[in-house]
Amino acid sequence: MDIHQVDDAVIRRVRAMAERANGLKDAGLYFYNQPISELRGGARVMVNGREMGMYASYSYLGLVGHPRINAAAKAAIDKYGTGTHGVRTLAGSLSIHHELEETIAAFKHAEAAVTYTSGYVTNLTAVSTLLGREDYVICDKLNHASIVDGCLMSGSKFLRFIHNDMDALETRLQQVPEGSAKLVVVDAVFSMDGDIINFPKVVELCQKYNAWLMVDEAHSVGVLGKTGRGIEEHFGLPGSVDIKMGTLSKTIPSVGGYIAGKKDVIDYLRHASRAYIFSAALPPAQAAAANEAFKVILDEPWRIEKLNANSQQFISGLKQRGFDTMSTETAIVPVLCGTDEAGYMLTRLCQLQDLFVLPVVSPAVPVGLARLRATVTAAHEPDEIEHAMDVIEAAGKQLGIVA
Ligand SMILES: *Cc1c(COP(=O)(O)O)cnc(C)c1O
Repeated sequence: MDIHQVDDAVIRRVRAMAERANGLKDAGLYFYNQPISELRGGARVMVNGREMGMYASYSYLGLVGHPRINAAAKAAIDKYGTGTHGVRTLAGSLSIHHELEETIAAFKHAEAAVTYTSGYVTNLTAVSTLLGREDYVICDKLNHASIVDGCLMSGSKFLRFIHNDMDALETRLQQVPEGSAKLVVVDAVFSMDGDIINFPKVVELCQKYNAWLMVDEAHSVGVLGKTGRGIEEHFGLPGSVDIKMGTLSKTIPSVGGYIAGKKDVIDYLRHASRAYIFSAALPPAQAAAANEAFKVILDEPWRIEKLNANSQQFISGLKQRGFDTMSTETAIVPVLCGTDEAGYMLTRLCQLQDLFVLPVVSPAVPVGLARLRATVTAAHEPDEIEHAMDVIEAAGKQLGIVA
């Protein structure tokens, strides 16, 4: 069909998006999908031929390009090639997949683990495989989109509570009819705000109301806990999460996702989750890279200490300079701007000074709460962070975001 001739809901949606993106491009305020030609050690990147300080990375421990991890990936290619024979259940299960799952289970102090080809798909398939129409799922309002999509796909009754509000969670738990299965799902660290879930209280409430607990650790593995094992280690509450979800694409410099937990639950997912049964296995190089990365985290604990020190420096320095960093306690540092326009403008001024930061605007965050979503990693040095904060401050003053 000739799309220039049609006028239906689909083409109106397509046009509205094009208009929004083109409007921003015309104003020089479009910052997405910029081509990065080189990753220079994690703290710096080459963007459009310019070297910039990287403050938009998820590689919290600076492990992208780590020699041991690169070597493991290369060795896996030499041993297995670049693909598999298809889905795990039939011909695609390699020994490196089993090794990776054992490594994850040991790292998360769980009986077993199962991996998928992305974190997004992991949440989608785990929630929708565990729950059915008669069951209840209860989510924090700021949970990641992949959890929300998994809940919708499951067809279960979907309840949400005010962000990190434990009275609201308890009210929701009380609304579930006696005898119904219920799953509480939360992010450990929230991806836009950087704050940490009130985990001890969530655990207590799940026990009180006999609810299953699933925690998404995308931003807490390698970040929280003395050895980087995540939320349970951070609060000294081992064994309190039933469904331990994580990605292999952030601190772990690969791609994929996993669920760790009790052996019976993992076996169930392995036999019932459609993303496992109907989708090809992780490529061997990525599985090997992820496997090695968990070992590097345990062998190089200084990275976690450095990340924590860098996060503290960045948060307290921005606060001293008058910025509202909301309630972050981690490496994800929102720098509140207000309007979407202010978010775009601050980004532009920072990027002109070779600081690679990105704006988060509505609908990803509520209208009026647009921000830079800045991150620091273990790859940054304290003087680089000071310089970055000076740049953000000068830009913020120019725009009247700070006095
Ligand atoms: C990034 C992210 C995911 C998805 O992980 P991918 O591996 O990128 O697909 C899931 N949950 C949270 C909280 C995330 O931030």
